[in-house]
Amino acid sequence: MKVLKFGGTSVGTTQRMKDVVKLIDNGEKKIVVLSAMSGTTNALYEVAGYLLKKNTVGAHETISALEKKYYKHIDELFTTEKYKNLMSEFMKKEFDYLRSFTKGVFTSFEEKIIVGQGEILSTNMVYNYLCEKNANVSMLPALDFMRTDRNGEPDSIYIREKLTTLLKADPDRDIYITQGFICRNVYGEIDNLQRGGSDYTASLIGAACDAEVIQIWTDIDGMHNNDPRIVDITEPIHHLSFEEASELAYFGAKILHPTCVQPAKYANIPVMILNTMDPTAQGTTISNKTEHKLFKAVAAKDNITVVNIVSSRMLLAYGFLRKVFEIFESFKTSIDMVTTSEVGVSVSIDNDTNLDAILSELKKFGTVRIDKNMCIICLVGDLDWENEGREAIATEAMKDIPVRMISYGGSNHNISFLIRADDKPRALQVLNEKLFLIQNK
Ligand code: ADP
Ligand code: ASP
Ligand code: MG
Repeated sequence: MKVLKFGGTSVGTTQRMKDVVKLIDNGEKKIVVLSAMSGTTNALYEVAGYLLKKNTVGAHETISALEKKYYKHIDELFTTEKYKNLMSEFMKKEFDYLRSFTKGVFTSFEEKIIVGQGEILSTNMVYNYLCEKNANVSMLPALDFMRTDRNGEPDSIYIREKLTTLLKADPDRDIYITQGFICRNVYGEIDNLQRGGSDYTASLIGAACDAEVIQIWTDIDGMHNNDPRIVDITEPIHHLSFEEASELAYFGAKILHPTCVQPAKYANIPVMILNTMDPTAQGTTISNKTEHKLFKAVAAKDNITVVNIVSSRMLLAYGFLRKVFEIFESFKTSIDMVTTSEVGVSVSIDNDTNLDAILSELKKFGTVRIDKNMCIICLVGDLDWENEGREAIATEAMKDIPVRMISYGGSNHNISFLIRADDKPRALQVLNEKLFLIQNK
């Protein structure tokens, strides 16, 4: 079995949907995970935002604009009256449902339901289009098997059991279509795997059905060596190890959801990143193998806050760091980078929801200072410490950028710089010029 995931832009227009169908309708057995059409999830979050603020007029306007688009999509996609009618009925029900949320109470519980409708819409369109073309296809509703546990983490045992049962009940299909992103929580309520979570759905499904490969189809020919939204000349990386890919995804390479590599890594299933607009391009293969290159890629993670605790009295005492870390742990706030000196420790976090409470606890241990609007630049390459001078090349490249923290030696393939967010474009550009365009040649 193969698992293929198509992102928002890959199903963003009816022409793209037709292209996706050409790619998948080839007689091979596969599970196809679809995101919402690009722009839809944002629009649904907008609707939810209006409703949380009790602005029903705003919500109605956004729903109507979305509805108009979808009726146009039906007209463009389907050719037979039968399917045009069937889909119009489906759309009517869907949009009546969305409008039903403008009446009555609206909480984060209803928000979860609304923002998940984009995947319901896209999968029904592609599924019915395949049916119209007489393809051997079946729908696997994600809400019937995708579930998180009491810690909010995917419940891999439940997912495997349910998915296996569903596949066994309908074994002879070529194509199984399912929704990315959406799931149920431990109470059975509708939930999701966070923005961009369809990648995660695909790798969880891949691991649950022992897939031979997980293909992430998107709008670019693989993971590039720098952020193509910021830097002009970037190149695809053809091979990455699971660790390198996790590091890049976690530290900001938007092309992959940060947690998506883990299930594939544990199950040892290769993940390919492929381009729907250029299906013959090699793309990126993420597996246990890697290609050795001094510097392979750079990524940037935004919205970082640095917390610095200085305590001449306590730092060298046993247990000081543990106490500091426990405070972050108790507020479910994970730490990305850490540097210590004899008198102080600096840590970086990307979630400052509980910052005030954390700061007031930390103040019991020393003087606390924070720097906001920071960014982590993560450089991935062959950075085993025994290869002398490699970190020096990286720091030399960054010599004109003020660096707040450096982290090196946490793994054999990463060096991270913490800088001001304003300096990010310059840092990415300069690393590109000095490390990829010159150094690797
Ligand atoms: P999808 O809708 O298919 O999930 P995303 O928008 O989530 O697609 O991810 C693809 C986008 O990620 C690309 O269009 C590109 O702009 C951006 N991106 C950011 N960093 C990288 C990178 N290192 N390599 C490739 N693409 C990247
Ligand atoms: N549609 C969801 C989002 O926009 C999930 C995804 O695209 O992966 O975040
Ligand atoms: Mg994505």
